[in-house]
Amino acid sequence: MTARIIDGKQLAADMRAELKSQVEQLKAEGVIPGLAVVLVGEDPASKSYVTAKEKACGEIGIYSNDNRLPAETTQQQLMLLVDKLNNDTKIHGILVQLPLPKHLNENEVLLAINPDKDVDGFHPVNVGKMVVGEKGFLPCTPHGVIQMLLRSGVKLEGAEVVVVGRSNIVGKPLANMLIQKSPTGNATVTVCHTRTKNLAEHVKRADIIIAAAGRPNTITADMVKDGAVVIDVGINRVEDATKKRGYRLVGDVDFEAVKEKASLITPVPGGVGPMTITMLLYNTVESAKRAAGTG
Ligand code: NAP
Repeated sequence: MTARIIDGKQLAADMRAELKSQVEQLKAEGVIPGLAVVLVGEDPASKSYVTAKEKACGEIGIYSNDNRLPAETTQQQLMLLVDKLNNDTKIHGILVQLPLPKHLNENEVLLAINPDKDVDGFHPVNVGKMVVGEKGFLPCTPHGVIQMLLRSGVKLEGAEVVVVGRSNIVGKPLANMLIQKSPTGNATVTVCHTRTKNLAEHVKRADIIIAAAGRPNTITADMVKDGAVVIDVGINRVEDATKKRGYRLVGDVDFEAVKEKASLITPVPGGVGPMTITMLLYNTVESAKRAAGTG
């Protein structure tokens, strides 16, 4: 069997078109969704993520409030900015780009964000709501994975899902969402990590494999059941002298071999990546709808 490729770029474009029309509807009701992005320092990767987020906002009509602060910004200055954004009615979502420079207390900053504007879904109030199945904000990458599965026609109910990775931003929230008693959950979930005794044995059972380990070739073809659905969250740089920049991006899955056994598979790049920013836009629009009393 050769797998059908799940086209993350196309799914993201479809969702962004839906969001754009919701933004137009909100504007007709007098509400312009607003996202404040806070970047401290000059980290090149963070700068390019922030630029991509701001560009994506512009494309669907979200007001993007850009806050680029010098690396020497103090904790107090940052807390004052968060407080100002919490109280700004034009702002429906606040995103503080991580990691922050080492002298800043990341946890204190994240806790200070009003949970009703926490569109990254990292505040403990939103994490708690996700765990008990209440409406809050779901973290973007795991929510993007679930949307990809559903929009590709994958049945979650009763499926055996193996999640490889247990980080707070990907593995743990994904497992939590997938076990919820809801149409976007109802799966039977196993979470694997570096202390898992026999990774291959677990992965072989899976109808759906979600790789989020951050290590190339964590999932090889011999570990994959025929017809399994494979979602690759990993983004890893591997040296490649044939590329101008000296490296290429790969996921956690041995894509070429695994695609001959899977029924559906995501590529890297062009898979989960484009969905992450889309879900940030989704949360911002949701927040604006709630503020307008329509969400
Ligand atoms: P992380 O914090 O480093 O967590 C990696 C997890 O994988 C850990 O729980 C670790 O186990 C587990 N792991 C590592 N090697 C393993 C192995 N050989 N076997 C089993 N488990 C293993 O990483 P993360 O932030 O979750 O990100 C994971 C990957 O997704 C990275 O490549 C990252 O770049 C990518 N990512 C992509 C997006 C996107 O938008 N597409 C977003 C976020 C992250 P322990 O807990 O035991 O250490």
